[in-house]
Amino acid sequence: MGDDLLSYEQAAELVACRARDLAQRRPATERVDLADAAGRILAAAVAADDDQPPFARSTRDGYACRVAEASAHLTLPVAGLTHAGEAPPAALPAGKAWEIMTGAPVPAGADCVVMLEYVERVGDTIRLVSSRRIEARENIVAKGAQSRRGDVLLKPGTKMGAAQIALAASCGYARLEVYVRPRVAILTTGDELVPVDATPGPGKIRNSNAPMLAALVAHAGGDPVILPTAADTAEALDDALELATQADILLISGGVSAGKFDLVEPALARLDSKIFFTGIRIQPGKPLVFGEIASSGLKPYINRPRSEGHFGPAPIPVFGLPGNPISSAATFHLFAAPILAALAGSNEIYPRFVLAELSQATDRKGRPGLTRFLPARCEFNASVNELPKVALVPWHGSGDLTAFAQSNCFVVIPEDKGSLEAGSMVRILLH
Ligand code: AMP
Ligand code: MG
Repeated sequence: MGDDLLSYEQAAELVACRARDLAQRRPATERVDLADAAGRILAAAVAADDDQPPFARSTRDGYACRVAEASAHLTLPVAGLTHAGEAPPAALPAGKAWEIMTGAPVPAGADCVVMLEYVERVGDTIRLVSSRRIEARENIVAKGAQSRRGDVLLKPGTKMGAAQIALAASCGYARLEVYVRPRVAILTTGDELVPVDATPGPGKIRNSNAPMLAALVAHAGGDPVILPTAADTAEALDDALELATQADILLISGGVSAGKFDLVEPALARLDSKIFFTGIRIQPGKPLVFGEIASSGLKPYINRPRSEGHFGPAPIPVFGLPGNPISSAATFHLFAAPILAALAGSNEIYPRFVLAELSQATDRKGRPGLTRFLPARCEFNASVNELPKVALVPWHGSGDLTAFAQSNCFVVIPEDKGSLEAGSMVRILLH
């Protein structure tokens, strides 16, 4: 691997470009109950079935009045009372106030609601206290102020979280049309790997990447399919790839560095693949491979043909992730997750970097010219006007799962920085 590798930014832009193209494919859709919609990607718009609010609504407990009369601090007899859930029987009579609760419809004729706390109530009359002013429309949300009947409130491609589910519920959507999750084949490679429930013999290790990648895929909105582990031979890899390539995305772990048994790249070359890059100036994760396998001429997927009209005979994005667990996880978040999001129909494809303050200097010098994504722990208990504080987790390289499990983010160290001072503002990627 020479110095002609792409920088992190170049690779990220290339992946984002492919993701934007892939987002043009329309995934198949299915209907789910609103209660099962969390994390799903909306396939059909959610529209307002009525004006919101459907009536002029009071935002306070208090008295609906005419602003001219209330502002003049007139004594106003209380003509009636409306709770949330009732409709006022009539318009507000002139020279009167109407007692009203939060969420209740404001009677016609009233143009403000004076908060309970700001009136003197004597018997059945109220008066705005002399120290307070009131403006027209204060404490009233007008009918239709939030949205109008027929307005599109959530577009296809929206990821359904709690707020979006609440909005859909408020518009009467008991079920939603969402995109089918992309099927992500996970192919781990390596003669050293044994299953989780086996005791490793000499020189062997348990396959931790398969369950890790399955968890990452599920969390990112994909449907993980773990394939049998492939041995480090060209034949084993060729056989495994034939199974894998009927998925919507293929993640291969291991076999991409420059070692003698790093067979992934040649195997992809034997298929009709386009390779976009075979390494990036990042650490960890430098040997990452990204390409697309043409789906023509591939054997049908065991028991599970690709759904008709799903993505059609489109090429299948493939990532050759470095085998070291932290490298696999970092490159998944940085590069595979955007492609997965695009194939899932999501309109949010970019990794979500946020700012934090480094609480300790990064003493580790990196190799110059590599953007580093180092496992770190971010503490979120900072006061509201401080950035969260983040510190690197001590590690023994990118195979150190003990360290990785203590971390909750990666700190980004730009390629032109050897180390960073305590107090520096840094970008982090939560994981
Ligand atoms: P490779 O990228 O195949 O050269 O692997 C790099 C390192 O990651 C080696 O130490 C492998 O043993 C380790 N590794 C590869 N695949 C896995 C896996 N599925 N689970 C855990 N470690 C792995
Ligand atoms: Mg290997």
